[in-house]
Amino acid sequence: MSIGKPQTSGQMMAQPLLISDLIEYAASHHAQQKIISNRLEGDVHSYSYSDALVRCKQLANALLALGVEKGDRIGTLAWNGYRHFECYYGISGIGAICHTINPRLYSEQIEYIIQHAEDSYLLIDACFLPLLEPIVDRLTSVKGIIVLIDAEQMPTSSLNNLINYEELIAEQDDQLIWPDLDADSAACLCYTSGTTGNPKGVLYSHRSTVMHAFASRNPDALNISSDTVVMPVVPMYHVSAWGIPYIAPMSGATLVLPGQGMAGKDLYSLIDFAKVDLMLGVPTVWLGLIEYLKENNLTIPSVKTVGVGGAASPKVLVETLDKDYGIYLLPIWGMTETSPLATLGAKKNAMSEMTDDQRYDIQTSAGKPMLGIEIEIFDENTHLPLKHDGKDRGLLRVRGPWVLSSYYKLDKADCFIEDQQGKIWFDTGDIATIDKDSYLRIVDRAKDVVKSGGEWISSIDLENAAQGCEGITEACVIGVKHLKWDERPILFVVAQDKKLEKETIYQFLGDKVAKWWLPDDIIFVDSLPHTATGKLQKRTLRDQYWNYLIT
Ligand code: ADP
Repeated sequence: MSIGKPQTSGQMMAQPLLISDLIEYAASHHAQQKIISNRLEGDVHSYSYSDALVRCKQLANALLALGVEKGDRIGTLAWNGYRHFECYYGISGIGAICHTINPRLYSEQIEYIIQHAEDSYLLIDACFLPLLEPIVDRLTSVKGIIVLIDAEQMPTSSLNNLINYEELIAEQDDQLIWPDLDADSAACLCYTSGTTGNPKGVLYSHRSTVMHAFASRNPDALNISSDTVVMPVVPMYHVSAWGIPYIAPMSGATLVLPGQGMAGKDLYSLIDFAKVDLMLGVPTVWLGLIEYLKENNLTIPSVKTVGVGGAASPKVLVETLDKDYGIYLLPIWGMTETSPLATLGAKKNAMSEMTDDQRYDIQTSAGKPMLGIEIEIFDENTHLPLKHDGKDRGLLRVRGPWVLSSYYKLDKADCFIEDQQGKIWFDTGDIATIDKDSYLRIVDRAKDVVKSGGEWISSIDLENAAQGCEGITEACVIGVKHLKWDERPILFVVAQDKKLEKETIYQFLGDKVAKWWLPDDIIFVDSLPHTATGKLQKRTLRDQYWNYLIT
């Protein structure tokens, strides 16, 4: 027996985790599972993962022929559809970076993002061409614009040298051996919606994307398998539609892409047609769908679960989905910087023993972390961790293999904070509690919490309480200057019932929140300002109303 150095490294193959592996796997082992898309051309398109792989390879070959190299940024401006799916794989598969651009941003922000990312080509739905027309002369890095539409439907545009996607890929070989890439190489780029300052870029790697997908499909997370028919109603232009275009092929699940049809009527037709059982999106989308179902006396019996994130889940939504449709609302928390899924509140057998209120309490939380994600709340003065008792509120920090370590070409060192054990955390900008069972509850964005007499009032809790009042479509709370208490809350209400009175709302809120939380005024408005990702744009209201209570 020879005595040598102990073997300290594992002796397994150093196989990198790559995005191209996901589509290869789906095409080999779930070849006939479908991707069903609502096309902008007006019809429903359906093809298999093996058909998709062929076109992904044709796109990859086309990009290589155009001279695209590893690390080049290729922008996309597109709805959820099969061609956008092909971009995800065709671009990242050859080591280029798929940069998804949010078309709801202001045109100056779109210009800023394309310039900052230095995109060399753009792949774009025809309906978004008018967004580029006024800024195209200033897009100095862009060499060509590829339009994602059937060749015979190419629109007329003032833009020169448009390339038709179908014509471009039709002439390409469908054979390609994906290049060997380092798993840590960059794969996708997404900018935050920039509620303050310019949007900031988050650059995901192949490894982070695949690991995020592995963790997110688990039973205690989204619970996606080859039996699942999943429809992301979150756009593919924002944080990769929460990773679903990667998770579905990895799981061999049927993927349903709603195009630009996010309204109740369009969603209903596609759910009914494809027999969707899992959908994901922000709360407002579901309010729209429910309104349509109620008005038309319809049900969606195939749907078992609706994943809700991006904002807190109002209790009224949890309850309506449960009682009226038998659907479990699966709460999710995450952000662009966390790929985005980090915490989820999956359904448990033990819930069948709980009262409705106990269950709804869990479903209005933000869930608990997936393996890989660590969350902690810190005191804003001592920067020490706080108790997990569901009461202590602190700055929410997060770390993990799919959490960013720095922004793209931007120094924001103040977002990355070392704790007493030398661990680096990303500071989310959220204030939260964590309870003894690890359930996270977002109290507020640090900048939105109302600081009244040294105490915090959660604008989210107050909004959710108001949202339960009949006749209210949307509610928004901001803190404004107050001479005695520093800040006091005021409530903005969009009411579908034009006869709704302030007094009724005060009475309704009376037994839902502490007395000192009651807003100092209630203001009826026709609509509320939103960011490009559909969140309430509170800064605009704060600027306008800051002196409202002292003048
Ligand atoms: P942005 O592009 O503006 O960063 P994100 O889509 O990344 O937008 O949003 C992240 C933020 O959304 C979180 O920091 C949090 O404030 C809010 N958010 C996300 N999920 C939840 C949730 N379940 N409950 C409350 N707030 C949430």
